[in-house]
Amino acid sequence: MNAAERLIQGDRMARTDFIELLGYENHPEIVDLLRERAVELRRKYYGDKVFTRGLIEFTNYCKNDCYYCGIRKGNRNARRYRLSKEDIMSCCENGYGLGFRTFVLQGGEDAWFTDERMAELIRGIKERYPDCAVTLSVGEKPYESYRLYREAGADRYLLRHETASAEHYQKLHPKEMSLENRKRCLYDLKELGYQVGAGFMVGSPGQTEETLAEDLMFLQELRPQMVGIGPFIPHHDTCFAEEPAGSVETTLFLLSVIRVLLPQVLLPATTALGTLDSMGREKGLKAGANVVMPNLSPVKTRKQYDLYDNKICTGEEAAECRGCLEKRVETAGYRLVNERGDAVQ
Ligand code: SAH
Repeated sequence: MNAAERLIQGDRMARTDFIELLGYENHPEIVDLLRERAVELRRKYYGDKVFTRGLIEFTNYCKNDCYYCGIRKGNRNARRYRLSKEDIMSCCENGYGLGFRTFVLQGGEDAWFTDERMAELIRGIKERYPDCAVTLSVGEKPYESYRLYREAGADRYLLRHETASAEHYQKLHPKEMSLENRKRCLYDLKELGYQVGAGFMVGSPGQTEETLAEDLMFLQELRPQMVGIGPFIPHHDTCFAEEPAGSVETTLFLLSVIRVLLPQVLLPATTALGTLDSMGREKGLKAGANVVMPNLSPVKTRKQYDLYDNKICTGEEAAECRGCLEKRVETAGYRLVNERGDAVQ
């Protein structure tokens, strides 16, 4: 039996199995087989539903200097902004009216948002919208901070591990950052009862089949409820400005692999995928993804949350984004629903 068949059968995969599996990306029959299985599994657990998350990019100040990221500290050309609590609440109000039942607060690691301010923000949203989930995506924090946010009502946390190879991690980040701490955060979050999202960029500089196999090994071990993957896209003001973007095909292949590996996973068809290919998100849904994350941020700051070049959806109002995605989801043969969209157990 080959590694794709073993994955489909639900076997525990060894590193060498994942390496073999990754080699099948150029075998159309095996790619099709994995995609069909992925679609079958997402249907089994989620029917034709696609969940939606309202993404609020609330600050682009960041103390980190991740080499790939356009809002890294060292980018003097980034125009910095942070939203006030009132701004954020009005994004939620707008989003709630449009049918969103999950709000994702994403930002750089911005010290202005102390634990107290974060907790106040989370409590404010949960009091006003008790039927909604609050997801945080604000980077690496001590256990105690994660505990406070959880106590304030946060339900989920997105923290892509970026790469599960320590050596590769050091090629993407300055020495102050480590894979060890990133993993520590993910395990802390899990212990605190968050629904946790890990993930990585596809085609980040220095990525190999070996590092990708480590990523899949790590996902198999952590078993996160959510996995965010999207192609790496160079940003002109970063160290990786001249590096090639990741591959859409590889991303689609990996979406299918991840769906088969973690059948109940919440798997977004990401904005980065839609940026590299105008039909990227539809293709993502057809490869096993079941979540989309339209932007709810105020139009006035959208362009400033500039992680990579040519990011789409930076000009439209939230309602337009929602409407556009609704059509795209239907084109792919699915249905956008107004639900919290928790992972099935
Ligand atoms: N500060 C938060 C949020 C980071 S932005 C955190 O550390 O988790 C969310 C994700 O965007 C990152 O985890 C990264 O995987 C992705 N990203 C950043 N720069 C990118 C680029 N140039 N191309 C594609 N994705 C990128």
